[in-house]
Amino acid sequence: MNRRPFIAGNWKMYKTSAEAAETAKKLAGLVSGVTNVDVMIAPPFTALAQVHEAIKESSVMLGAQNLFWEKEGAFTGEISPQMVVSAGCRYVIIGHSERRQYFGETDLSVNKKIRAAITNNLVPVFCIGETEKERDADNTFNILDKQIKMGLEGFSPDDLQPVILAYEPVWAIGTGKTATSGQAQEVHLFIRNLLEKLFGKKIAGSVRILYGGSVKPENIKELMSMPDVDGALVGGASLNADKFAEIIKYK
Ligand code: PEP
Repeated sequence: MNRRPFIAGNWKMYKTSAEAAETAKKLAGLVSGVTNVDVMIAPPFTALAQVHEAIKESSVMLGAQNLFWEKEGAFTGEISPQMVVSAGCRYVIIGHSERRQYFGETDLSVNKKIRAAITNNLVPVFCIGETEKERDADNTFNILDKQIKMGLEGFSPDDLQPVILAYEPVWAIGTGKTATSGQAQEVHLFIRNLLEKLFGKKIAGSVRILYGGSVKPENIKELMSMPDVDGALVGGASLNADKFAEIIKYK
């Protein structure tokens, strides 16, 4: 199955609106000739509208880093799917390990957020991954099995058509430690096989599975050479337009 590579930048809690728009504009220029990779950036909520303006003539697409599942209401500090869409987003990162670790996100809330994203025509980038302790205890596959089954509970194969998965081993995020391409491939294949068991061959073959965790210009080519690695979710290295463009132009 030919899956189109997808490379996304998660800007976390970095950059003011002006800084984000400047980086986005520069990136759009640097990757203007790239036609074989889908590129998405996810700046902070406050910068979405300005970044949308900066990239709207380019092929770079916009994503949010989170959302809340309700449409509107007394939910101070939260952002609805409709608001994210109105800011120009087509994508939304859901269940990032930092949200799970610091903000109490659970497999259940992740499930509701994925549902809300799909209902509002946003493509969810559904993040999963094990901690170092879980890997050391040989629990990686159990953890991923649970995260996937609970995160995607109640969905039909059709619902899952647009979904993108991101395997992000927590021990590799922002640490400089990258999973080897062999480790990434082993897990991606496990994920694809599980998707096949749960939702059938067609979906398992078409869903894109990204790797995330200290991806940089030096390791992207090797990671992308793995048959089940369909792209990358990049944190730190996506904050710099030159570096991120180098990653996007890995071929
Ligand atoms: C991330 O934030 O999703 C991530 C993978 O970060 P980093 O690339 O900095 O490890």
